This record gives sequence, structure tokens and C-alpha cells, in this order.
Amino acid sequence: MEKVRQYESSKIEICRNCGGSGMVHPQVEGNWLLRRMQDADRLVACDVCGGTGRVRKHTEITVTVRSFQ
Ligand SMILES: [Zn+2]
Repeated sequence: MEKVRQYESSKIEICRNCGGSGMVHPQVEGNWLLRRMQDADRLVACDVCGGTGRVRKHTEITVTVRSFQ
């Protein structure tokens, strides 16, 4: 005998990758000075949220309970 419970939730949250702005500084290889200069005026759309600043988070949890033996 076992019991199975399922929980499901879907919610919209602010994207953590870009902090909700939808834009991020691109990753630039090279020395720190060059990186800082390029970061100042270059922004690209966030990969995680696609530039919207919001993400949809879907969670599914399955809990199975069975006897100890
Ligand atoms: Zn984002």
C-alpha cells in the first residue's frame, strides 16, 4: 500500500539573471579594464528571460508514502 500526493504550482517571478531589467552585460574575455569599458555602454537581451525581465516558474512535486517494511 502506498500513497502518492502530487503538488503543482506555476508562478511568474522576476528574472534573477538580469534582476528584472531584461538586459545584461555581455561576458567579455580579456583584461578587467577592457571589460569595464565595454560593460559601460553595451547591453544584450538576457538569455534566461529573453529580454522580458520575467520568468515563468513551474514546480512539480511528487510525494510517495509507503510502509517501512
Ligand atoms: Zn532576465
